[in-house]
Amino acid sequence: MKIAIMGAMPEEIEPLLERMDSYEKVEYAKNSYYLAKYHELELVIAYSKIGKVFAALTASTMIEKFGAQKLLFSGVAGAINPALKIGDLIVATRLCQHDLDITAFGHPYGYVPEGSVFVESDATLRQIAKDVAKDAGITLREGIIATGDQFVADPDRKAWIAETFDADALEMEGASVAVVCDSLEVPFFVLRAISDSADMDAGFDFDTFLENSAKVSADFIIAMLDRLLR
Ligand code: SAH
Repeated sequence: MKIAIMGAMPEEIEPLLERMDSYEKVEYAKNSYYLAKYHELELVIAYSKIGKVFAALTASTMIEKFGAQKLLFSGVAGAINPALKIGDLIVATRLCQHDLDITAFGHPYGYVPEGSVFVESDATLRQIAKDVAKDAGITLREGIIATGDQFVADPDRKAWIAETFDADALEMEGASVAVVCDSLEVPFFVLRAISDSADMDAGFDFDTFLENSAKVSADFIIAMLDRLLR
């Protein structure tokens, strides 16, 4: 069983690579993939680069070329739900694309024919996350994550995404990974630690908290791997 762990940016996978027993770097499709060993687990780790297209390419590559049978995403996100503070963790129950819009044809936002507005993540992986959180005394929120090719630093856009999709957090990769994994029937899980609140200060907060929040998420993923090893 090979497990993929992906992030979007170097900061999101570096804390994971540091914890591996060993890894080998393979270059493919203008990106680097790390074939890693963590105790008895075989992993493929990569950061995709930012946005839905790169994320879809990386998720597809991890599955189709490197044979990943489960995929875990680790990274940072902007908070929508006011209960989410910087450094807090959120697990996606369902994900949607907030910037997908063919409403001119009478369709809802986030929908294209033969697709669906929301894609649901794997319930078994979510349960593992809940068990890990409970044992470690970590607060883990579940909710809807909205994805789009925009860094949101705008209260109006944030409010629109909240209303339209009932979303709790937003980022730029999760839903595209969800579509890939759902199509290829690979169970997936998206974890994000909050780096900012998608408001006027988002750019500044992101730069300040990226490294720490990315590590919070990566550390939790390692705890999930430890649980899988039991
Ligand atoms: N500072 C970076 C760009 C970061 S883009 C640079 O200059 O290269 C933001 C990244 O963090 C994306 O991968 C996205 O998934 C996540 N993210 C965090 N906060 C976000 C927000 N407010 N809006 C959109 N994505 C956000």
